[in-house]
Amino acid sequence: MQEVENSMSDVKLDDIVSLAKRRGFIYQGSDVYGGLSGTWDYGPLGVALKRNIMQLWWKMFVDGRDDMYGVDAAILMNQKVWQASGHVDTFTDPLVECSNCHARHRADKLEDPNKCPACGMSGTFGEPKQFNMMFKTNVGPVADESSISYLRPETAQGIFTNYKNVVDSFYPDLPFGIAQQGKAFRNEISPRDFIFRSREFEQMEIEYFVDPEHWEEAFEQWVAQCKEWFTVLGLPAESVHELEVPEDDRAHYSKRTIDFEFDFPIGREELMGLAYRTDFDLGNIQRVSGKSMEYTVKGTNNRFVPHVIEPSFGVERALMAVLASAYREDEQNGDKRTYLAFPEHLAPVKFAVSPLLKNKPELVEKAREVYRALKAKHGAVMWDDNGNIGKRYRRQDEIGTPHCVVIDFQTLEDNTVTVRERDTTEQSRVAINELV
Ligand code: ATP
Repeated sequence: MQEVENSMSDVKLDDIVSLAKRRGFIYQGSDVYGGLSGTWDYGPLGVALKRNIMQLWWKMFVDGRDDMYGVDAAILMNQKVWQASGHVDTFTDPLVECSNCHARHRADKLEDPNKCPACGMSGTFGEPKQFNMMFKTNVGPVADESSISYLRPETAQGIFTNYKNVVDSFYPDLPFGIAQQGKAFRNEISPRDFIFRSREFEQMEIEYFVDPEHWEEAFEQWVAQCKEWFTVLGLPAESVHELEVPEDDRAHYSKRTIDFEFDFPIGREELMGLAYRTDFDLGNIQRVSGKSMEYTVKGTNNRFVPHVIEPSFGVERALMAVLASAYREDEQNGDKRTYLAFPEHLAPVKFAVSPLLKNKPELVEKAREVYRALKAKHGAVMWDDNGNIGKRYRRQDEIGTPHCVVIDFQTLEDNTVTVRERDTTEQSRVAINELV
């Protein structure tokens, strides 16, 4: 076997997009009607991969710790949430319009700030206008100011608005965190680069409440936790970079931000952010709602509004980084092979089970038995009896299945099967008992 080194810079976005579509990971949203820009639909393998990522995160950051509380807040929230948080006034991107072709672009993401990438003309942009990225909607059968709401542009506010509820129900010691996963919506000016910049996406966010005296050590601990997460995702350490965001570029609420960037096939871009949000959000809620957000340290009179460290993870960007890291090409017996070397815990399918020949009932029956036993144990097991064995292996390699199990005539004699490994293509004889 000839190994081909996987270097991130060799992986092309087009290869990933086409594999994702062809093999049922990710489709363009509303494809049958010509699509809807900035939206994507997950197919059977994509949803499995995405859930594996999200469940792994929940296990690591919520179930695996004793200082973390999960919530699942409504996407639609009282408009005061977004007024108090500053999103109504400041959640904007600079928009420019070309006077020649009328294409609209996000000014801060243009390669050449004077040249329209749509028509190629220079000097056709006016002054940038601030464009608010929230999707506005009405709640109920009326359309007046009081019924206005927004599809949430971040999950974080659903955490802040539940901070008091969680403290009242559980009275946790500081520091403690509240975690949430769920959809977020941003009316991005130019969605692009596959799922990297979408209008509807998913976030996994934590607000970690700390005594303001100790924010720095909590921040450092979260830097380390984020790095551990990248390792668990199987991202090569050399492809992840920490960017200390300078004050001028930080969000309005942040006193310190580190962007973790990744060498995506589209270049080095933000994978997730870690921000020290101070007491900005709880302070605003206290001011606008008139309700105290103070925390009293148990057994003392020490009361204060906690400060917050916020690791904010984007699911789509994690998934895109996982796909790019797993994508490999090599040569097998003179043929090019494409495979996804997912870490086993992320693979959408763990085992594929085949009878060597599908027209031999005794093999099929035995294979069904092994399939059912493996499926009862692992769930994510696929039956595959199409084409010859070599083709089945290629198909499973392409979707990143770590193990292919083949039932042959020897199985009927000694209850052993062939197990073929994705990355090495090595085959071994394993007893069925051992496997299930
Ligand atoms: P960018 O500068 O790329 O627009 P951002 O700094 O606005 O991103 P945050 O507000 O920090 O992003 O959001 C936290 C995380 O949510 C990001 O690190 C990213 O993983 C994810 N995210 C944000 N916007 C999008 C989007 N349009 N599509 C997919 N994921 C997104």
